[in-house]
Formats: sequence, structure tokens, C-alpha cells
Amino acid sequence: MDYKSLLSKLEIYKKKYKVTSLGKSQFNRDIFAVEKSSGVGLSTAFLIAGMHAREHITVDLVCKMLDDGLFDDIQEFNICIIVMSNPDGIELCTGGVLTAPEKFRKTILGINLDSQDFSLWKANGLGVDLNNNFDAKFGTNIGSTIPSSQGFAGWFAESAKETKLIADYTRSIKPFITISFHSKGEEIYYNFFQSGFELQRDKLIAERFAASTGYEIKNPEMISSGGYKDWCISELKIPSLTIEVGNDNLIHPISVNHLSEIYEHHKFIAKDLKFAYNIVRDKNNV
Ligand SMILES: [Zn+2]
Repeated sequence: MDYKSLLSKLEIYKKKYKVTSLGKSQFNRDIFAVEKSSGVGLSTAFLIAGMHAREHITVDLVCKMLDDGLFDDIQEFNICIIVMSNPDGIELCTGGVLTAPEKFRKTILGINLDSQDFSLWKANGLGVDLNNNFDAKFGTNIGSTIPSSQGFAGWFAESAKETKLIADYTRSIKPFITISFHSKGEEIYYNFFQSGFELQRDKLIAERFAASTGYEIKNPEMISSGGYKDWCISELKIPSLTIEVGNDNLIHPISVNHLSEIYEHHKFIAKDLKFAYNIVRDKNNV
């Protein structure tokens, strides 16, 4: 789904949910949060989609969850979803360089090695890979030392406007769990050098999500750095999952024609979040 389609969706969501702009992207597009509030003062489960541009099927996925009211019977906690974390990158991926402000187009084409094909672009509008730009072992295991369609961690942690905005908002709402949707591979990641009760807690939650989605738990903590999940685990000490949706046989960017089959794996997300909520509450002895 592109940015314009999302804006139409949000008009519908406004009738049922709280829709707010958390701020602007590098190219001045809004980064929206859709919230389902169960009550003031309750904890929040925080979901994030559309961080990597070519993985915009994840935007369709969280929107279908909202369309189908999957979170509606949750009473114990609030749900907040950043439906499209990287609108500039997604616009490049779906609409090409003309979606960027004119003054940036030459630079962006250079970053894309003078190709007009942006279908595999992952980064934000200026070639920062947002999921390497968070403050968690920042700058290690980097794929590129200069702005790139993928793998450039940025000049410093939270250098990208989108990263800073997402990190600031996460710090402000202090969620009890975060779930980041990426594609592809049908995999779940939950490790980032945590230990003791945090590791035990996060493993239980990841196993629950793995059982309900049919996805496989992976453990690549030694090669991960600067990811949103990594930062949530190491800085905020909360459980945080990266869920890679879509069969590995599918090609990027995954067509919306595959949305139904992907969605089938996630129909029980509300129950999984309730499970996570109870685990976190029990482990914290609240
Ligand atoms: Zn990704």
C-alpha cells in the first residue's frame, strides 16, 4: 500500500480509533499512529509496520488487522500501531524518484546507482536504513558506509527523522511489548543479548507467537545491530519481536495478492498479545 492509499484508510479508521500524526518524515509526510484505547493509564502494546520500504505488504497486513477489528475485544491494555514508519521510502519503492522533492532527486538517483527502478529500495528517502539507525550497538555489522538503498546505518544513532520520532514516541508511551513487522521468511526474532529473567520472559512470548503463526524462531543476535527490536530490548528492557511475514519463496516487494495467505498466520494476534501482557505482568510482579 502506498501513502495515498493509507491516507484514505485513515479517514475510515478515524471513525473508530484515535489517529494521530507523530510528526513528519524527511520529505514532510506524516507518520501516523492508530490507537485503540482501553483506558487511561493502561499499558500499551506497540506495533510497527512499513519500516523497510520494499516490505510495504506489512502496512497492508496491520491495516487488515484493523479492518477486521482483531484488537477490538482487548480490554486489559491499549494498542498503538505505527502503520507506515517509512512513508518516503515506500513512496520511492512504489512510485519512483518523482515522489521525492525535486531538490533531492539527483542525490537519490545517485544513491540508487542511477537506476530508475526503486522496487527493492529498503531505506528512508535519503538512504538511511531505519532498522540500523537505532541506538543498539550502533554502527557495527553495517552493510554500507554511505547512503544506500539498504544497510547504511546513518551518521549517528537516531540521525534519521523517522527513527528519532519512533524512538521518542516509544520512550514516551513505555510499551510493555513491541512488535515490528518486516518481510520475508516466516521467522521470529527476539534476542539481543538479554539474559536472566528477561531472556526467559522473551523466549516464552516468542514461542507463543511462533506456535500461533507457524513461523520459526531465529537467533541471529550476533549479527544484528541498530534495529528497533535491538534497541527496545537493550535500552527499554522490554520484550520486542521482529516478525518476518511472507514465505521466503515470495519475491520483494510482496504483492498484495498474497495478503490473505499472510494474514491467515496472524489472526490470533490479540490472544498472543494478551498472553504477552500476562507474562510481563507476572514477571514484573505487578
Ligand atoms: Zn525489514
